[in-house]
Amino acid sequence: MKCIGSINRKSLLYKTGVEYGDYTVNHVQGCFHGCLYPCYAMMMAKRFGTVKNYDEWIKPKVVDNAIELLEKELPKLKDKIKSVQLCFTTDNLKI
Ligand code: SF4
Repeated sequence: MKCIGSINRKSLLYKTGVEYGDYTVNHVQGCFHGCLYPCYAMMMAKRFGTVKNYDEWIKPKVVDNAIELLEKELPKLKDKIKSVQLCFTTDNLKI
């Protein structure tokens, strides 16, 4: 699969509130699958304003500055991190 576009983020690694998780990296935003039952990831993306609508959701964007952010964030957090979840904002990890 091919990514439709790219975005930049101010940060990438964050502590998740999900009970089975520790830290998370959301390096892709959106999902080609476009499931029509309420997709929780899409609903959250719409709620927080990172995507406007379904059409935007089904055109995944990769975080262009992910490596640069990880190079800054990993040294600060490496002693706290037990595991990193990839990724709560897509099901297209190979794009
Ligand atoms: S993130 Fe999961 S539920 Fe949402 S559209 Fe993609 S495959 Fe479907």
